[in-house]
Amino acid sequence: MSRPITVTQPYLPPLEEFQPYLEQIWQNKWLTNAGPFHQQLEDELARYLGVEHLALFSNGTIALVTALQALRITGEVITTPYSFVATAHSLLWNNLKPVFADIDPDTFNLDPQKIEEAITPQTTAIMPVHVYGRPCDTAAIQKIADTYGLKVIYDAAHAFAVTQGEESVLKAGDLSVLSFHATKVFNTFEGGAIVCPDATTKQRIDYLKNFGFADEVTVVAPGINGKMNEIQAAFGLLQLKHMAEILQRRQEIDNRYRAALAGVKGIRILPLPDNSRQNYSYFPILVEADYPLSRDALYQKLREQDIYARRYFYPLISAFPMYRGLASATPANLPVASRIAEQVICLPIYPALENSDVDRVIELIAG
Ligand SMILES: *Cc1c(COP(=O)(O)O)cnc(C)c1O
Repeated sequence: MSRPITVTQPYLPPLEEFQPYLEQIWQNKWLTNAGPFHQQLEDELARYLGVEHLALFSNGTIALVTALQALRITGEVITTPYSFVATAHSLLWNNLKPVFADIDPDTFNLDPQKIEEAITPQTTAIMPVHVYGRPCDTAAIQKIADTYGLKVIYDAAHAFAVTQGEESVLKAGDLSVLSFHATKVFNTFEGGAIVCPDATTKQRIDYLKNFGFADEVTVVAPGINGKMNEIQAAFGLLQLKHMAEILQRRQEIDNRYRAALAGVKGIRILPLPDNSRQNYSYFPILVEADYPLSRDALYQKLREQDIYARRYFYPLISAFPMYRGLASATPANLPVASRIAEQVICLPIYPALENSDVDRVIELIAG
């Protein structure tokens, strides 16, 4: 049997390319706290992503928690059940009440109409997710936010380098949060960032991620330790040099799956969004009623061949014990998300995946 195939695998550049960065760190003896590689990565990422300002973090979850602190969000926040659990956990860590709204059946992102229906006098913010890097209906969400006076914080953990037209999708809303976890398209082992529109907001976020220190003797907020260290930042700088090849290989794999699976009865694939540069971070398929196997049977069949596809996102966040008691968490309130969670499988996609591996996965699904 061939080697196991996981849903994703981190991209690692040639080891010798990392050596000069390490030598630099050893020479500087500056290991963390806004070191030179940290500052350089903030600048280079802002330029690469086409955004004004960003603040690096030790991971995406601390960045989400801090984004909510920065905007002083209170009360209820409308969010999606169809995401990684950290989205809603960041609300509980701020003593906020998550209110789950259903998703759109074609994009799997929050349905703007369902957001509007979930608003109460306690609502202060919306936390949507660009699921699989596919942009939310940001215009409709902003209109609702403006009408009701709400903040919008995007969990953009999947949306690295994604655009809507020429514009970065990370410019939508008040803040956007990225994750650079090892499983993501761009990684710094662990890491993340908050994208913000102006220097004043970035300054405040920089205080918050460093215990609230504004200078040696002044603490302006009950901040957290969310700082990215120099080794992480150096790795990010090196990886940024390889992004073009990483994205190109991902696109080739996406195209290969797309072409081969488009005609398979009972398998639904999502069309690529119009007018959007994608990052090909995930390849979800839906196993529908007219496929010969159930979703879980297909998932098991792949596992038996050492192919570890994942059911992102199953279970829904709203099904976990700390959420399921909420009125908005009932499956009756979330019919679309509940159905998609029972049908989805994300197929392996990462730069080192070979065409022969892709073809094996296709053969098992289509054959
Ligand atoms: C990965 C991920 C996170 C968490 O990011 P970490 O860097 O692992 O803390 C949050 N939300 C979504 C949607 C994610 O996929």
